[in-house]
Amino acid sequence: MPELPEVEALRDFLTEHLVGHEIVRVLPVAISVLKTYDPPLAALEGHQVAAVHRYGKFLDVETADGPHLVTHLARAGWLQWRDSLPDGAPRPGKGPLALRVALETGAGFDLTEAGTQKRLAVYVVRDPLEVPGVARLGPDPLADDFDEACFTALLAGERRQLKGALRDQSLIAGVGNAYSDEILHAAKMSPFKLASSLTPEETARLYAALRVTLTEAVERSRGLAAGRLKAEKKSGLRVHGRTGEPCPVCGDTIREVSFSDSSLQYCPTCQTGGKPLADRRMSRLLK
Ligand SMILES: [Zn+2]
Repeated sequence: MPELPEVEALRDFLTEHLVGHEIVRVLPVAISVLKTYDPPLAALEGHQVAAVHRYGKFLDVETADGPHLVTHLARAGWLQWRDSLPDGAPRPGKGPLALRVALETGAGFDLTEAGTQKRLAVYVVRDPLEVPGVARLGPDPLADDFDEACFTALLAGERRQLKGALRDQSLIAGVGNAYSDEILHAAKMSPFKLASSLTPEETARLYAALRVTLTEAVERSRGLAAGRLKAEKKSGLRVHGRTGEPCPVCGDTIREVSFSDSSLQYCPTCQTGGKPLADRRMSRLLK
């Protein structure tokens, strides 16, 4: 799933490729991705793109004197840039193509979604705050005014475990399953540590890990073509998705805790005092 750094890189890429160009056609292929009906998709047509914004993991293509096209790529969605779109309308049905946007130049982009769980969402709105997920977002962790005091205030009274708190979009916008693993590894903290139990020194360490991890990931992704972002994300991760590999910091074996629909990875030596966290599925497999 694309998280803040990948969506930020897509925003950069689209700013360069879309701004100043006119949207001539918007073709819905999988109707279920469209979550709004007024204004209609066709209301985007005939308008120039004025700007591209990012809110958390949402992308917003703003048109001049027209509506906004807001999208959330979700777990298996992606954006594919096409220098030249094929002629003819794409056929609905099988395949990952969900929505196609064509420019006056013949270029454009496809929103695609792999797999059977369809979560990709597209909204056509007059104001991005009409999208409930955007309206609920907490502060952006890379914003200039997101300082340590701001982070401390967010965590004060937060009774959840760090892993869950960091992934909560209404607490902090843009961090998902992968980067929360990376941030906790960089901060050398257990994913199950209670947010409210952090000392001021630990809060400072977690804040620094959050900013550095995301900033570095954005730097790595920036300037890459949309198609290469997924591979870059994967290669830059130190623990997430690396169960069984050695920790790049200490060499211990990276472990996993799995849940019904996701899993987290961590390094016992770096993060949990050398103790593996309980994982029912793993212990069943090891018996
Ligand atoms: Zn380690």
